Amino acid sequence: MNFDKAIVGNCIVSAEDNEINQIVLESILAEQDLPFVIVGDGQKAVDAWRAITPKLILMDISMPVMNGYEAIRAIRAEEAGTGQKVPIIALTAHVLKCDKEKCKAAGADHYLTKPINPDLLLETIAVILSDGRPDYLSVVA
Ligand SMILES: [Mg+2]
Repeated sequence: MNFDKAIVGNCIVSAEDNEINQIVLESILAEQDLPFVIVGDGQKAVDAWRAITPKLILMDISMPVMNGYEAIRAIRAEEAGTGQKVPIIALTAHVLKCDKEKCKAAGADHYLTKPINPDLLLETIAVILSDGRPDYLSVVA
């Protein structure tokens, strides 16, 4: 997959507390030369979003300090009225329909299940970085 440097712009923030998953995400993003930062909890994800205004956030749901739902809600609350809305992809091992609904209700744009499928993740990132946010919530089980 080829990512145009001009559209990649700012970093991707990837919030993930599990060390193995951090390594997996790091290798997927680094292989594509996508600029990214990885943080280990939801509070750090919110802090990183404030600090660098990323183009995209990959948000694990089960995390310490502040979980993914809380972090997404905090970001959406701060965005309210600003006209800004960072695309957020929720990543979770929870595969029940109610978890997908909870991600959507919290304010996630997309939802992908773990184990991480590199091709699907990159395809989703590519579409977001090129033209906004298709409703992957409706097509990704
Ligand atoms: Mg986790």
